[in-house]
Amino acid sequence: MGRVWLTDYPHISLDFEDLTIVTPRITNAYFAKKVVTGGAVPATTPTVAFDEINEGILGRDVYIIVETENFTPPNQSLISTERASLVVALKTGDCNLTGVADETLQITNGTTDVDSITVQVGDTTALNDIEGNCDYGNLDDFIDTAIIKVSLRPNARTDFDTWAENINNSGSDLPTIEIDVVPEDKNMIVDYGPEDNTQGPPLKIGRFMNSEGHEFTLENKNVYEIYHGDNLFNSLGTHTHNEEVVRRRISFIENDFSTEVKYFFYNLIDNCYEICECTQTRVRRRNNGQRITSTNFQSNYNNYTSSVAAPQGGDAETNYYYADGSIISYGQAYGYRRYALTSPNDPNDLVDLIRMPDDLNINFETGLNNVRATFSYRNTARRYCNPACFAGFIGVLIQLGRTDVVCTGMCFGDATSYPSVTHPNGDSVDTAYLSTLAIEQLKVDAFRDYYFTNILRGNISWYPQLTDTAYSNGHNDHLHSGDFNLERVVTIN
Ligand SMILES: [Zn+2]
Repeated sequence: MGRVWLTDYPHISLDFEDLTIVTPRITNAYFAKKVVTGGAVPATTPTVAFDEINEGILGRDVYIIVETENFTPPNQSLISTERASLVVALKTGDCNLTGVADETLQITNGTTDVDSITVQVGDTTALNDIEGNCDYGNLDDFIDTAIIKVSLRPNARTDFDTWAENINNSGSDLPTIEIDVVPEDKNMIVDYGPEDNTQGPPLKIGRFMNSEGHEFTLENKNVYEIYHGDNLFNSLGTHTHNEEVVRRRISFIENDFSTEVKYFFYNLIDNCYEICECTQTRVRRRNNGQRITSTNFQSNYNNYTSSVAAPQGGDAETNYYYADGSIISYGQAYGYRRYALTSPNDPNDLVDLIRMPDDLNINFETGLNNVRATFSYRNTARRYCNPACFAGFIGVLIQLGRTDVVCTGMCFGDATSYPSVTHPNGDSVDTAYLSTLAIEQLKVDAFRDYYFTNILRGNISWYPQLTDTAYSNGHNDHLHSGDFNLERVVTIN
């Protein structure tokens, strides 16, 4: 039997026994994250699935999944495996994002703003890696599914900032975004919603993510996305490292309307995990410290304006504050160190710092796909760090995948770094030595891989055999990984 339009054949009633009504149907559309299973050693073919998500961050990538039934083009046989195309638009669910509800959002396609995206059902191009491969073993599962990958943002930075300001102004009532779906072929008559729709009759318009439990909100965060070195879905491009062209590993989504920083890691098979969220502050930039003798302190630096006890748990005991913004820290074991402002007359010469988690213990997946980010602190109260530098440190921890990494500190919340004179502003990480030369070398290599350019060691035991390091006085009890190269972080603007 051919295609039957009941309006053309009013003599055929719905209870006609031999009649099967086949209606193209858009059953569901939702925002999603990709979940990949398998793909580890020994080699198994990975499979891919999608989980609905109900929260997004301005500027991050998400998938839009549209599920259909019988979505054969009108001019094709019903048993054809060809599928028609859909047009997907994002709509404001309220006034919070643009000032107008039910407005079509202009989102970037990578180069310009678009108000809709057209995709053929069953096309899995959005699952390709950067080399154009798509190695999932279950692509047949998606013959009736449209898959779109979008960055949730307008193209221009100024528009991004407008959205961010509006999100900020909406407070805890975050803006919602709905998904609008129509067939590309205007002559195609479709039903919306699941056939056994228990919520009521099928939706008359193709609007999704607007029912209770299926809403999607957009929030402001600063975001660092960190990649496994061999992740083939990382589109950040390459740079030269040790005379070798390698993929970049860290990107940054800057959002001036948030003081929170979220860290995500994409593992080898491109599963994404949230590692932690930290609060960011902005403080005056400081120079490297100077050693000050007791005599010098007594005679030249007794004009401090105030003094307070240093944060508990570290080597510093007292901080002295001066009219020119400098700070002198004192502790019994190391004496006095002075940290002057880099630009005493420029209040805008600031650095970003995050307060790091007190201990981190993340563990997802196994084998080559493992995402283990674990460290603890020892003998230090220096728990602030440049936010990008901390992204590098997370990359190091996950590349090592160890449980015994001990951090001996970065910097304080005022950007000083007592007793170290070399890492104000939190661009360096001190760690205790691991147990053998071989595994400590892996740590050195990981710090290099994640953009730390200056690695300092001591001169006892096997420490001099660590390649890609330099000797520096005072490093027999810890490795110093410093001068994190901010320029290697890809800022997505
Ligand atoms: Zn150090």
